[in-house]
Amino acid sequence: MIERTAFYIGGAWVSPKDATRVEVIDPSTEEPFAVISLGGQADTDAAVAAARAAQPGWAATSKAERMDLLTRILQLYKARAEDLAKAMSREMGAPIDLARTAQVGAGAWHIKGFLHALEMFEFDRPLGSHAPDDRILMDPVGVVAMITPWNWPMNQITLKVIPALATGCTMVLKPSEIAPLSAMVFAEILHEAGVPPGVFNLVNGDGPGVGTQLSGHPDIDMVSFTGSTRAGIAISKTAADTLKRVHLELGGKGANLVFADADDKAVKRGVLHCFQNTGQSCNAPTRMLVERSVYDAAVETARAVAEKMEVGPSDKEGRHIGPVVSAAQFDKVQALIQTGIDEGARLIAGGPGRPEGFNRGYFVRPTVFADVKNDMTIAREEIFGPVLSIIPFDTEDEAVAIANDTEYGLTNYVQSADGARRNRLARRLRSGIVEMNGASRAAGSPFGGVKRSGNGREGGIWGLEEFCEVKAVSGWHAEEPCQHHGHGACDCC
Ligand code: NAD
Repeated sequence: MIERTAFYIGGAWVSPKDATRVEVIDPSTEEPFAVISLGGQADTDAAVAAARAAQPGWAATSKAERMDLLTRILQLYKARAEDLAKAMSREMGAPIDLARTAQVGAGAWHIKGFLHALEMFEFDRPLGSHAPDDRILMDPVGVVAMITPWNWPMNQITLKVIPALATGCTMVLKPSEIAPLSAMVFAEILHEAGVPPGVFNLVNGDGPGVGTQLSGHPDIDMVSFTGSTRAGIAISKTAADTLKRVHLELGGKGANLVFADADDKAVKRGVLHCFQNTGQSCNAPTRMLVERSVYDAAVETARAVAEKMEVGPSDKEGRHIGPVVSAAQFDKVQALIQTGIDEGARLIAGGPGRPEGFNRGYFVRPTVFADVKNDMTIAREEIFGPVLSIIPFDTEDEAVAIANDTEYGLTNYVQSADGARRNRLARRLRSGIVEMNGASRAAGSPFGGVKRSGNGREGGIWGLEEFCEVKAVSGWHAEEPCQHHGHGACDCC
């Protein structure tokens, strides 16, 4: 049994003051394999105090120093890739190959992306040529609480910690109590990279405990949260009394609009994307909307893809999908599959119960429903399991109406050879992201949603701005131009 009961506060691993011990469960076996602590108020207070004390010093560092630090973090992150992959695979059930590639890769990709964005980022900018005595300063927001989920641990942690470091913020991270071990490896990486004491702190805990204590803490300036819409609402309410800034990346119910002129691989690609990470992605395209003339063929393709999809434990190599993360998640997904059947959707692959050959582990059958109506529960609720709903449509207008008829607005997808139609749809779909014809978004592209999917953007320049306060200055004294960049708005020399 792995013992990781300490917290990282003020640059050292310290014993909890006020903690409860809990076990971390391997979702492939349902067996505990590690013990951590859930902190209490005294631990939260100690971490916040350390971050507060370190804030002025860290804010005073130059961009060049912070870039050097991020470069060291990236090197060490790559060196510890296997440790990160093993931790994530065990704690949240990602098959080891997926953990090594997509899960670990997402973090490295974000660190590189932020290094690039930071290089171009101007913390000190002119207002405009009409106002030479005005200046805009991008100040760090201060002390940030970060609350993260279990589904893409390094993706979400790097999307918060790296831009906070880059902009001169200090922070307290509370990773998911279900998947806390990779976050502790990440803390070791930051320590080894030389992040100064107090700049980054980690306290484990649950939502009602450390999560709520951080959200309401008077000495926290901002909460950056990724997780369920339910918790996002609770955090916003708790944060309201202290009027801290609240950044939310929440759930999704993405539509994937497949037109008759879509490429041959579009349906297969959509099913595989929906099932990736065992369907546990906020941006999963879980509603496949298919033009009527190609609907029957699409349903048949989706059935074949789902039936071929292998399910297996997280320590097995290969391209299978793993279990869902927990007993609670397993029960929720099973109940929703049953609800789909009860409400009259046509089950064409998978269904209730474990896949053949499994009598334990939180394994779910890759499941596809056809003839889904958009008012059915499976089309409205985020299932967070390998479950796809297929819905027919007749016209482009109808497809847009169905796609936008959801509480969520994170990612939508379009598959069509008609470029003018794609651009039209990109404008009409109500979501923070629209991905078309399987093209992935480039580094620096912002990630985030509208409506109940949240209110912020992570990644690139936008991800840095989230951690800044805009300060407007008048009566600015023109400074000597920077030797390297030719203007006065630079802290490099
Ligand atoms: P969750 O909301 O239950 O937990 C997420 C984190 O919030 C955990 O660290 C948890 O301890 C904490 N938490 C829970 N209740 C809290 C409260 N009342 N106050 C403070 N903290 C609280 O979500 P989860 O089950 O871990 O993750 C799955 C959810 O995350 C899905 O809904 C998914 O769509 C969403 N998600 C969103 C994005 C995005 O960027 N939009 C990315 C990944 C996951």
